[in-house]
Amino acid sequence: MIYVIHHCRMQTDQRMDAYNGPHVVMWIQGTDMKRRDFLRRAGGGALVAGAAVSSACNRERGETPVTESGSRKSFQWKMVTTWPKNFPGLGTGANYLARQIEEMSDGRLRVKVYGANELVPPFEVFNAVSRGAAEMGHGASYYWKGSSEAAQFFSTVPFGLTAMEMNAWLYHGGGMDLWREVYAPFGLLPAAAGNTGVQMGGWFNREINSVADLKGLKMRIPGLGGEVLRRAGGTPVNLPGGELFTSLQSGAIDATEWVGPYNDLAFGLYKAAKYYYYPGWHEPGTTLECFVSKKAFDGLPGDLQGIVLNACRAANQDMLAEYVARNNSALQTLLHEHNVDLRRFPDAVLSRLRTLSDEVVSEIATKDEISRKIYHAFSEFRDQVVAWTDISERAYLNARAAGQGQEPG
Ligand code: CA
Repeated sequence: MIYVIHHCRMQTDQRMDAYNGPHVVMWIQGTDMKRRDFLRRAGGGALVAGAAVSSACNRERGETPVTESGSRKSFQWKMVTTWPKNFPGLGTGANYLARQIEEMSDGRLRVKVYGANELVPPFEVFNAVSRGAAEMGHGASYYWKGSSEAAQFFSTVPFGLTAMEMNAWLYHGGGMDLWREVYAPFGLLPAAAGNTGVQMGGWFNREINSVADLKGLKMRIPGLGGEVLRRAGGTPVNLPGGELFTSLQSGAIDATEWVGPYNDLAFGLYKAAKYYYYPGWHEPGTTLECFVSKKAFDGLPGDLQGIVLNACRAANQDMLAEYVARNNSALQTLLHEHNVDLRRFPDAVLSRLRTLSDEVVSEIATKDEISRKIYHAFSEFRDQVVAWTDISERAYLNARAAGQGQEPG
């Protein structure tokens, strides 16, 4: 259910700090507890489901009612992205975010989305928004480790958090405050704005039956996962998405990871590899991000600030739902129309990769003070949440699989 809450002079507090301003329209999706809590802090402000109260508050101040939005100041923003224009899931997720902002603001904040290389190259978007060439960017924080090693914790790390655990850490476990601290020196305000869910282990032309099979494996796997593979004896390669198919087909690489069935099917990777391995130990729930120029954000009235942040929340949820639904149907196509040979990595291989991952991820903590702080906060949350996930999600999934006569994970 969606509640519209309006209070003429809402107080600022830690949770609501993004919404302060002389006039506020908020959409709160939450529990009764939260609403009562909010009302108590707001000091008995007006609450009505609908627009009546916002109009009343505006009349009280002699302002134009919000429904007459044409008379209010409008904004035109640019969003630069690291994705090809309209790329399924990621690019369309950025489009969804822009559309939500425009619709919720009734056109007062318009956002034009630029695909990779339309305005700036894909890996320049962070710097472009930081220097004010665009107001918003859409990407993934592990791309910016050259600017800050600590940024990697806010996308995904090998054997890190699932999508649900990641959202728990960011929204209710202190992660968001740390992310803001990391991006503040760049004049940027970050927000989670999408998630791919658990990715796939990748496409292989070599069977992986033991740790020894990783030796000499030439695989396209970027970032921290690539470093883990290197320590396991493999040769990590970084290639852009568009080169994966031909590299795999020509034998230039033995294996590649990409995303999951939805995106992998579209690239036709099943035509160039023998085996499709799972799980994606290296990207267990990759968070996509929106970052906003702090200067541009501060120039918005409070209601538009709330709309930008809540549109990011909607986009964060919508992309994950889309990936789960489309991965599911694409997997069926791969298995039943293209007869893909689906394989699970052996336990001994996953165990070795996990040991090496802990080593690689813990080394980020040695890079600088903020990386040390975030590594410890992230690790503490992960260690704790694993106990809950084990007796909730994992126990249930095992029980469900056992009931279907499948191998309990
Ligand atoms: Ca990937």
